[in-house]
Amino acid sequence: MDAKRREVLKTGGGVLALAAAAGIIKPGDVKRKNTVGSCSASGRIRLNWRLMLLPPHLVDYVVAHELAHRRELNHSVRFWNVVATLYPRYREARRELGALSKTLPDF
Ligand SMILES: [Zn+2]
Repeated sequence: MDAKRREVLKTGGGVLALAAAAGIIKPGDVKRKNTVGSCSASGRIRLNWRLMLLPPHLVDYVVAHELAHRRELNHSVRFWNVVATLYPRYREARRELGALSKTLPDF
């Protein structure tokens, strides 16, 4: 085992970090998808399977967020007003999701 690989393992790096240390990929070759949901311009909503790892109230928030994009395809004040009609405590949920999403698996 080479020193780079040992260092990655010691620091808890995942498969992507190991692949970069081995020269298989360069930084930025594989982009991590941080989003747990998305809404296209046509209104198609996609939900990431990682949602299943979140508490149900955060799943509701993500669904409310994506549904609100069917009215507003942006994050304007009008968008957040739509979110608030669907999920009034969205601010707390958003903060919680931000913290928890960092703990979700990296694939
Ligand atoms: Zn959004």
